[in-house]
This record gives sequence, structure tokens and C-alpha cells, in this order.
Amino acid sequence: MKLIFATHNANKFSEVKAMLPEGYELISLTDLAYHDDIEETANTIEGNAQIKAETIAAHFGMPCFADDTGLEVDALNGAPGVRSARYAGEGKSDAANREKLLDQLKGKESRKAHFKTVICYINGKEQESFTGICTGEILERECGKGGFGYDALFVPTAHEKSFAEMSSELKNKISHRALAFQKFIKSLA
Ligand code: IMP
Repeated sequence: MKLIFATHNANKFSEVKAMLPEGYELISLTDLAYHDDIEETANTIEGNAQIKAETIAAHFGMPCFADDTGLEVDALNGAPGVRSARYAGEGKSDAANREKLLDQLKGKESRKAHFKTVICYINGKEQESFTGICTGEILERECGKGGFGYDALFVPTAHEKSFAEMSSELKNKISHRALAFQKFIKSLA
């Protein structure tokens, strides 16, 4: 069965491809030469995953899934959340987003946070969502050079290294995204 993963991210694509059970052929938006901007206008992570999956499933008339991720910080009432990619402003860098997060957390007692990934899968009239959550704490300053986004500020529960300091193999085992994808893949098997 052909299945579209609504992404251009080659790393995410090959990770999921390696997990798929037999009988599925995974296709990316790059494979399909689809480069339109999909406006992520929902005010929840779930909503944005759904917008992406619905747009692509309707455009190609094929089963499709999309993912969306955000970092939710307890002391900031869940911010940056759905705005994680543009926390410091439209078009600002990951470094600017991390700087804003450190700034907003100054003087806050709790530094508890979690990453949340939601995958929305659409197959004809069927629609299902899968959520992966990785809990942890926000550091006082950046640690590590690996990863991307907020990795250098996030230490997952029961670990001592930030996501940016640990191997990508370890991160890909315990991350929010990995957990959501494991649930999704299990549902296909
Ligand atoms: P996306 O939905 O995967 O594009 O993620 C939205 C934003 O969340 C990204 O721009 C990153 O800033 C952040 N983000 C997503 N996943 C991670 C992660 O695994 N580590 C650190 N930041 C992440």
C-alpha cells in the first residue's frame, strides 16, 4: 500500500521508512514534487498535524500522515507549544527561540516541560491521531552542540545529558517523535 508522509524532512522520512512493516511503500512530499506552503493556522499541535494530513490526503487522494511537534513548558502555561518554531517571531532562528525561552523562565521555580508530537493519519474516511510525549526539564543554559531546535536546553527525565549532548541513536529511541511513530507503526502492523 502506498502511504504519503507529509514531510520534506529526509531524516524523519528515513527513520519512519525503516520502521514500516512489509507491504507499505512510503512516499514523501519531495518525491511528489509538492512544494506548496501549507499554512499551519490551528492553535493546537493536534490541529496543525490534522491540517497538513487533510490537505495532502485531499490533494493526492491517497492515505497520508503528518506530524507536528511542540515544546510545552509548565511554568509558561504550555508555551511555546504550537508556536515552538516561531516563538521569537516569524523567521527567527532556533537560537533566538532558545534565548527567548531562557529569558521567559528567569526567576521561575519550575523548569518542568515536555515535548509533544502528534501524528494524524488519514485513510479515506478514517482519521486517527497518535501522541508521543517526552517529559524533562529546561536547563539554565545551553548544553551540547548536536540536535536542533530546543535540544540544547532539554534534559529528558531519568537522563543527565541534554538531547543535544546524547547520541542521535539514544534520542531517537526515547523522543516524543519516536514514541508517537511507534504507536502509529504498531497500528499499521
Ligand atoms: P516540527 O513540527 O517537527 O516542525 O517542530 C516544530 C518546532 O519544534 C521546531 O521548529 C523545533 O523548534 C521544535 N522541535 C521539534 N522537535 C524537536 C526536537 O526533537 N528537539 C528540539 N526541538 C524540537
